[in-house]
Amino acid sequence: MAQKTAIIIGAGPAGLTAAYELLKRTDIKPIVLEATQDIGGISQTIVYKGNRIDIGGHRFFSKSDVVMDWWQKIMPLAEPPDGPKLDPAKTDLLLLVRHRLSRIYFLRKFFKYPINLDMESCRNLGLVRLVKIGFSYIRALISPIKTEKSLEDFLINRFGRELYNTFFRDYTAKVWGAPCSQINPEWGGQRIKGLSISKAIGHALKKMLKRDQSISQKSTETSLIERFLYPKFGPGQMWEEVARLVREQGGEVRMRQKVTSLKLENNRVVSLVAQDAAGKQLITLTGDYVISTMPVRDLIAGINSPVPDDARAVAQGLIYRDFMTAGFLLNKLKIKNQTDIPTAHDLVPDNWIYIQESDVKIGRLQIFNNWSPYLVADPQKAWIGLEYFCNEGDELWRMPDGDFIQFAAGELEKIGIIDRADLLDSVVIRKPKTYPAYFGTYDQFDKIRLFTDRIENLFLIGRNGMHRYNNQDHSMLTAIAAVDNIIAGKTTKDNLWQVNAEDSYHESK
Ligand SMILES: Cc1cc2nc3c(=O)[nH]c(=O)nc-3n(C[C@H](O)[C@H](O)[C@H](O)COP(=O)(O)OP(=O)(O)OC[C@H]3O[C@@H](n4cnc5c(N)ncnc54)[C@H](O)[C@@H]3O)c2cc1C
Repeated sequence: MAQKTAIIIGAGPAGLTAAYELLKRTDIKPIVLEATQDIGGISQTIVYKGNRIDIGGHRFFSKSDVVMDWWQKIMPLAEPPDGPKLDPAKTDLLLLVRHRLSRIYFLRKFFKYPINLDMESCRNLGLVRLVKIGFSYIRALISPIKTEKSLEDFLINRFGRELYNTFFRDYTAKVWGAPCSQINPEWGGQRIKGLSISKAIGHALKKMLKRDQSISQKSTETSLIERFLYPKFGPGQMWEEVARLVREQGGEVRMRQKVTSLKLENNRVVSLVAQDAAGKQLITLTGDYVISTMPVRDLIAGINSPVPDDARAVAQGLIYRDFMTAGFLLNKLKIKNQTDIPTAHDLVPDNWIYIQESDVKIGRLQIFNNWSPYLVADPQKAWIGLEYFCNEGDELWRMPDGDFIQFAAGELEKIGIIDRADLLDSVVIRKPKTYPAYFGTYDQFDKIRLFTDRIENLFLIGRNGMHRYNNQDHSMLTAIAAVDNIIAGKTTKDNLWQVNAEDSYHESK
């Protein structure tokens, strides 16, 4: 009997996990089709003149032991709990354990993240604002908004209107390009459900009393996670290694093969078509299973068979937020380390900094030196990432690279983070569809699910593949669940949709 095959669309964390799991647990041959020339999707690492960029900064952390163990099987821990330490200077395939620090830059000052009303923050906020925060928080406790119709309602109920106005309203609008009042509260439910003022204070108290050194922080809200794993050369290293293993074990990972259409018959995908990089040569493939991580909007648009009108309309109305980052190599930063955390060259100790200032467009700043010193070719220099949330084709997106660098450097200079004279080199990266939005037609997503769940041999997994705000671990868990279903011959997909829909995963901001 001919060997069964699974066509996997996309070589990001979800697609590669599915391929790896199929090889480990079945006789099915995975054929991964990747549209670009890069492994890792959003979780890739981009190399520029020996310096590495992690798009967005990827903490490797999961509340799932399955995922934590999976990562450690692919790459050994630098500091295993029950063995000798591995020297990062001598070993390349290595997971470092990193300490997290991310703060908020607001009013040209640093605030703890998540917001912590300690003496320093109170001083920075000023008495008038503090009193307003206190009163509005009490008001939210006494008389909460009864039906949370938007993210705005969700946040006001948990933090009070004043704290919402100060720290959430403008930043969230920067991220999504839409006001919180237009965003579905489900986003808050998935990302910050477990976080509240009382939990943040409780966490701070616990921290003072006890120092937990393990990397498992299952009972900690994701926003408060303080240690995480990180591949020595950035997240892409993990996925390049998985792709290597998939190929070594008999799977295929084909680059520059963009899936453009699918044909259905009797509730099954019977074939799909992929274009090569030139966009001309068409490759038609048949497989027993199709596992898709491509954006749902593109997938439905590419189905060359009858699709219910409502599902097609909802898919067309799905919205994505896109992302631009500029890598800046600098002699030094203007802001100095004013914490008691020791750093080389007086560099601020943060992994990333939320830029809350409303007079600039920049959303976040990554300090790559602090993610892994091995991301930086010359450790004497500061290597940072300036992150902008935008829409593909908007003014920012279309700006020529040189202009964008001048604009971004001007913003950092304006808020006192760099002196432009220290800028040695820079690079611009545009990444489309980084954030599947929880507005547009998202509230009718069930129409799409009703249609796609019935296609027996099609499995939607991952982040854009499910139009879900999934992190790597959630994306991987959906891939593992798809393989479970294939093995069990299950045609229902409910277990895939349950991943990241429950209490145990929260992220803030
Ligand atoms: C700013 C930012 C910060 C993040 N931080 C973290 C973090 O700290 N920790 C964490 O765990 N996660 C984080 N994430 C989430 C993480 O990046 C995603 O969960 C993960 O990359 C999703 O994996 P995926 O395989 O589903 O999708 P992707 O990574 O998007 O990969 C999909 C792949 O499919 C390919 N593709 C698309 N269309 C086609 C087509 N038609 N044909 C063939 N191939 C196609 C794409 O080119 C891509 O390579 C962050 C994301 C962002 C944007």
